[in-house]
Amino acid sequence: MAYNKPIPVPQGESDVYWQKAKEHELWLRKCNACDNAYFYPRDISPCCFSKDTDWIRASGKASLFTYGIVQRAPHPGFVDDVPFVTAIVELEEGPKMATNIVIDNPTFDNLQIGMDLEVVFEDITDELALPKFKPV
Ligand SMILES: [Zn+2]
Repeated sequence: MAYNKPIPVPQGESDVYWQKAKEHELWLRKCNACDNAYFYPRDISPCCFSKDTDWIRASGKASLFTYGIVQRAPHPGFVDDVPFVTAIVELEEGPKMATNIVIDNPTFDNLQIGMDLEVVFEDITDELALPKFKPV
């Protein structure tokens, strides 16, 4: 069945991010001036506005920062997915990112703030894969 949810549109500054995601690798931007990794990807660092930035491969390890369990589909494409978990995770490298937690039985008993997570990728089209996280 075709993917029927909203699809991200890669922009110039995020092309590498999406290319690497398709290879099931999570990449971040890192500021060479102050040594901070950051997300979302952009050419100018949000910490000190330096343009001296690079791409780094993230470990894929994260912890659960906060989450919600979605009970009612926000879009027709999600009808078969509820209940599902939207979350902010804190990556091992420091940045936080919005994502989903992949878990069979999403209840408050099965999700703990601070729990260890690792990245997994969902291939949604021939060109795109979405990084999501699952409990370790
Ligand atoms: Zn900086």
